[in-house]
Amino acid sequence: MKQFEKSFTQQEAIPAQGIEGAVAILQSGRIHRYNTGPGELAETSLLEQEYAAYQEAKYCLAVTSGGQAMQIALRAAGLKPGDKILANAYTLAPVPGAIHACGGVPVFVEIGHDWLTDISDLRAKAETSGAKFFMLSHMRGHIADMDAIVAICEAFDITLIEDCAHTMGAKWQGRRSGNFGKVACFSTQTYKHMNSGEGGFLTTDDEELAARAVILSGSYMLYERHVAAPSEDVFRRIRLDTPNCSARLDNLRATILRAQLGQLDQNCARWNHRYQALENGLRHAPGVEIIERPQHEAYVGSSFQFHAHVTDIPALTASCGQRGVELKWFGGAEPVAFTSRYDSWQYFGDVDPLPQTLRTLSTTIDLRVPLTFSVEDCADIAEIIAEEAQRLAA
Ligand SMILES: *Cc1c(COP(=O)(O)O)cnc(C)c1O
Repeated sequence: MKQFEKSFTQQEAIPAQGIEGAVAILQSGRIHRYNTGPGELAETSLLEQEYAAYQEAKYCLAVTSGGQAMQIALRAAGLKPGDKILANAYTLAPVPGAIHACGGVPVFVEIGHDWLTDISDLRAKAETSGAKFFMLSHMRGHIADMDAIVAICEAFDITLIEDCAHTMGAKWQGRRSGNFGKVACFSTQTYKHMNSGEGGFLTTDDEELAARAVILSGSYMLYERHVAAPSEDVFRRIRLDTPNCSARLDNLRATILRAQLGQLDQNCARWNHRYQALENGLRHAPGVEIIERPQHEAYVGSSFQFHAHVTDIPALTASCGQRGVELKWFGGAEPVAFTSRYDSWQYFGDVDPLPQTLRTLSTTIDLRVPLTFSVEDCADIAEIIAEEAQRLAA
């Protein structure tokens, strides 16, 4: 019987250029983004400029986490305490956390069996809730029908905020994920598509939102040191009515990220080879249901989901676990590690049940695909899951 030995949480080393850059920053002692010499552009400002170019967005702000990017995006977009906001009913905990921190009142939207936002539920809730914001998490990289989502947001005057923690580098019908809404948020926490330990980005084409975000991130009045930011006159309009919430990225992390950005597209392709190996190995496995990805979605396969149709899902995760394959089940009664859904966010008080989301998650299995796994490793993982699922197939 095959046994898998590698760690599901081991990422690749930081590229040599990033290590050299980090050592140089440490030797200079100038780690803070505004600690620059005359005429010097900080690594953080250069990173923002490069990420804006990559994302094809006008403005980019680097911050300390994806969660902070979301809080700042929501505030900069005008969310006020008590405002309703449409949101995913299952996503990583920093998303509801950001909504809660801003005083937003979530209206959760159902997902379908394919993990995509249920468009008819979105339309119904957009119409009846009166929410003027939609925080859309492209959860686990699955990108819903963006044409339909944008049309609904336009029809009901809803500001769309995209959480692209799992879609950095992905596209939908040729357009980068993150460029459909008013503002997009990204994470560079270790388990995402670029790794600075902690970190995040916000991108937008809206000059006032960008200026507010820079001030919110804690720029003091040093905003002119940002390159991927609007002009001085925009800052002058908003600078005194926008608070400083201190969430600046530092030059050390920025230099690590700059070294990774040039490899991002290549890494996305590497993820997809691994994803396809899993897909091919599991497509016809009894007890396993694969959802084929839509043609117009250029996804990044940094994680893999399937539905388990077995008699006992905990037994499946346990037996795969014994063979070294770490599976996460989104249907458990309690949140475990990174699994999180609306009924574990009790700080919002009682919310209407979402039966379709619960039904989908009750069979949803999730696994991480770090780039330290080879394509052959992924074929081995698929073989182990297929064998164990077959033993327990319903
Ligand atoms: C990782 C993640 C974030 C942001 O997380 P941070 O840990 O705050 O960087 C946001 N949304 C989703 C779906 C995520 O997975």
